[in-house]
Amino acid sequence: MAPVADVVGVLAVQGDFEKHLVAFRRCGVPDDRLRLVKTTEHLAGVDRLVLPGGESTTVGLLLQRFGLGPALIEFAQEGKPMWGTCMGMIMMAARVEDRKQYSLGVLDVTVRRNAFGAQVHSFEVDVPFKPLDETVTGVFIRAPIVVESGPAVEVLSEYEGKVVAVRQGNLVGTSFHPELTDDTSLHRWFLGL
Ligand code: GLN
Repeated sequence: MAPVADVVGVLAVQGDFEKHLVAFRRCGVPDDRLRLVKTTEHLAGVDRLVLPGGESTTVGLLLQRFGLGPALIEFAQEGKPMWGTCMGMIMMAARVEDRKQYSLGVLDVTVRRNAFGAQVHSFEVDVPFKPLDETVTGVFIRAPIVVESGPAVEVLSEYEGKVVAVRQGNLVGTSFHPELTDDTSLHRWFLGL
């Protein structure tokens, strides 16, 4: 677990950020150590940060409008833990396949958006998660996958041969949404990074 003094931030410009707060509370993080991040000022003093699920084109536009992008890039480059779930992983990616859209570019991967097909937008399945040595429940909602990654990127989970979780040092991306399950094991793991 993280030292109690750690401040845990959740990017809160759009998406399911509240669900992450609930998960961290259930991990025992006190409210005065939780911060919703909407501006660069909110990021000051945050030790680890989650980018939630949502809509990556919308969030990309908002990050540019609020000028928050460069501060998030700096946060990642300082080596502070950052975890993107679904849209959050797209936002962290260096490349989005077949599209020109804003992303932070800190995670050396190419992501494919909505990779599980148009007709099946949402499903739940147990997926292996290497660092925990056990499966976790993966909630996939119009989920992306990682189709290509650089040498510094470690694959943490695959589902049907598709890469659905990665880590590059302090940076973690998951295609799925642990914040939408009762299982807080990934949140606990993230707090220990
Ligand atoms: N399909 C969304 C996007 O590409 C991501 C969906 C999600 O975060 N659940 O932005």
